[in-house]
This record gives sequence, structure tokens and C-alpha cells, in this order.
Amino acid sequence: MARLVLKFGGTSVANVMRLEHVAEIVKKEAEAGHQVVVVVSAMAGITNELVSYVNALCPSKVTPEHDVVLSSGEQVTSGLLALALQRLGLKSRSYLSWQIPILTSTSSSQAKILEIPTNQLECCLKEGSIPVVAGFQGMTKEGRLTTLGRGGSDTTAVALAAALKADRCDIYTDVNGIYTADPRLVPRAKKLKTITYAEMFELASQGAKVLQARSVELAMKHKVKLRVLSSFSESEGTTVVEERDKVEGTLVSGIAHTQNEAKVTLMGVPDQVGIAANIFGCLSENQICADMIVQGCMQDGKSDLAFILQKSDLDRAVPLLEDAKKKIGFTDVVIDKEIAKISVVGIGMRSNLEIATTLFKTLAEKSINIQMISSSEIRVSVVISLKSMSVALEALHAAFNLDEKKA
Ligand code: ADP
Ligand code: ASP
Ligand code: MG
Repeated sequence: MARLVLKFGGTSVANVMRLEHVAEIVKKEAEAGHQVVVVVSAMAGITNELVSYVNALCPSKVTPEHDVVLSSGEQVTSGLLALALQRLGLKSRSYLSWQIPILTSTSSSQAKILEIPTNQLECCLKEGSIPVVAGFQGMTKEGRLTTLGRGGSDTTAVALAAALKADRCDIYTDVNGIYTADPRLVPRAKKLKTITYAEMFELASQGAKVLQARSVELAMKHKVKLRVLSSFSESEGTTVVEERDKVEGTLVSGIAHTQNEAKVTLMGVPDQVGIAANIFGCLSENQICADMIVQGCMQDGKSDLAFILQKSDLDRAVPLLEDAKKKIGFTDVVIDKEIAKISVVGIGMRSNLEIATTLFKTLAEKSINIQMISSSEIRVSVVISLKSMSVALEALHAAFNLDEKKA
């Protein structure tokens, strides 16, 4: 008998029919003799709807009330799935974060899981009942509700799998596994049998939303066996592993993209000690994360400073930057929302300089201008114009030999 954590995403629980299908999947695992803990997301589209309500009333900052509203979608599906399981003759009950409790830090809408006492869930399992846990939500020590960032139900599932010492954590979604690129944008994307934690972490951090990056980080840290598969069709899915045999010729294992970011350029920033600390300190105090920071050449004691941040943070960031402009004395704040970031990732690219060259050459051949570049040991990312994104993705996918060979 194995202990399994099964997580079902938004499209998998999008309506009562899908919930009934999910209940059948859970029943099959329970009937195979496994101990099962289930984690659910909100129905597809619900969290976005809830975000639009809170933003309409409070666009300029994120407050604990945002978390109260956003977390409500998962309450509905946890109750409904428990009912669907009961209807199939199984013992089941729902759990909200405060009932376990899933203890987190206090940062609204970006809370980190600190601790999960397991006694409640262990008791439930001992009674032969299936706990259905509302994903995405947590609770502070002071008793306030929190949420774990968009896509956070993946993290709830992995954290529970770690706390309960589960044999495996299965993430059920609407694609058959992890692909070499988002299969919705790159039709020739290939499904991977395995991918390493490190690669998946980079892909997820750079926009591959099939897993929340934090969930991969946790799985790597606690050695949770992680599998991504579809709740819509039967297939083996993709297993996230520690080490992978390097297949000859595959230096790159995947390409991620994001169009959720905007480029900010601060023009004419004076050359003075502490300026960067001032600007980025102020953004991070307000939980705004800046990335790909590039400082231009100095001219007459001034230079331009460019970086990217989430478009959804712009409404909060712009007033802060306008304030900084007055205090520091730079000339202008220029925003470009029409950008995309593309990242190529692979453990095979360690100490291989060809990857960046192929990336730059391929984009040049398509006359695509690179606006920003950053890299890590196993990743190279570029910012380009949004209108070139699809062409760039397909060209790079082919250039790195990732295309699925069609029969
Ligand atoms: P869920 O609601 O089940 O959590 P998500 O929408 O968060 O599902 O994640 C699944 C989606 O991730 C897929 O529909 C797909 O479009 C997208 N995706 C992005 N990159 C990849 C990738 N490399 N492999 C698979 N799916 C990807
Ligand atoms: N419902 C939340 C979201 O849409 C959490 C999740 O689906 O994982 O981000
Ligand atoms: Mg998701």
C-alpha cells in the first residue's frame, strides 16, 4: 500500500461532471489499496473572477482581505469533491487550511508554508476516510487566512506530501505531462518522460505554469516524488527526477515563455551610491519583484536603468517609481507592456557556450531584436517584443532539436 497525494487543477474540477470524473480517479487509487489525500484548486476561471472583484475595490495594494476572497474558490471544490466521493460510497471529508492547520508566513497573497501538523489528516486516514484539502490557502499563527501565490495548490500538494511522507505526489492537469514547450503555443512540443527538479524549477520560474516554481523547489528539498499527468486522458505523464541521463545531443530540455511582464526603463538616473538600493528596496518592501536588471552606459554622470516586473504589479509600482523620480531626480519612467520573455533551459548546457550563440543567431535570422539578456548555470533568457514571441518560440524549438518527429 502506498500513500499518495493527488492534486487536481482548475480545469480538472471545472464543473460537477469533471468533479465526478475526478472522484472516479480517486476511487480507483483507493480501491487499489492506496492511502489517498486529495488537494483541489478552484474551478477554472473562478480565482481570476475573485481577483477582479478585489482589484475593483482596492487596486493599489494587496491586503489580507484579498486572501480571504481569493481563497474561497478552493473551499467550494473541496466540499463538492468530498460529496462526490461520498456518492461513490467512499468515506471522505473536506479540510480548509485553518482546520489542519497549514501554517504560513504573513505576506498577503505570497505566503510561504512554514509548518503542517499532520495529526488531523493522519486521524482521517486512520479512519479510512479520504481528506480533500482546499489548495492554495494557508493560515498565519495569528489566525488570518493567507494564499500561496497563483498556482499555489501545487505547493499545497507537495508540502502535504512532504509532511505526510507520501510515496508520491501526482499533479493532475489538462495536459499529458511536461512538454519541451507550452503545447498550446508550440504544436510540435514533445512530452518528456522525465525532467530534473533543477530544470523544472527554471522552466516554472520562467513561466511554464504547469507547476508552480515553489512546489518544485519544495519537492527537490524534501525529495518528494512528483509526477504530472492528465485527468482528461490516461497516459503515463512526466516524472520529475533528481538526475537524468543526458541524451546525446539534447543540451536543451525545454523552452519557457511569459507575456505577463512589462519592461520599465528609468531614464537619466544619476550616478550616486545607494540609488539601486533605494529603488529596488522600495519595490521589494512592497512585494514587487524586479528581474533582469540592466544598467546602460554612463553619460554625463547619468545612465538608464531597465528591468522587468509583473504587469499585474504595475498599478502599484508606477506611483512608487514616480515618487522615487522626484526624490532621486531621474528624468522619466518609461513602460513597455508589449514584451515577452523566452528562456531556454537544460542541465546539458552547463559550461556549453554554444547554446547562447544558437539562441542569438536563431533570433537574428528571424530579424528579432533582443532587448535584454540574463542567464543562470542552466538557463539563458531573452526579452523580445511580444509580437515576435510565437515565431521566436517555434524557431528556437526547431533550432534546439526539440520538435516532435511527426510520423
Ligand atoms: P491547472 O489548472 O491544472 O493547475 P495550469 O493551467 O496551471 O493547470 O497548468 C497547465 C498548463 O500549463 C497547460 O494547459 C499548458 O498550457 C501550460 N504549460 C506551460 N508550459 C508547459 C509545459 N512545458 N508543459 C506542459 N504544459 C505547459
Ligand atoms: N486557484 C488558484 C489559482 O488560480 C490556485 C491554483 O489553481 O493552484 O491560482
Ligand atoms: Mg496550476
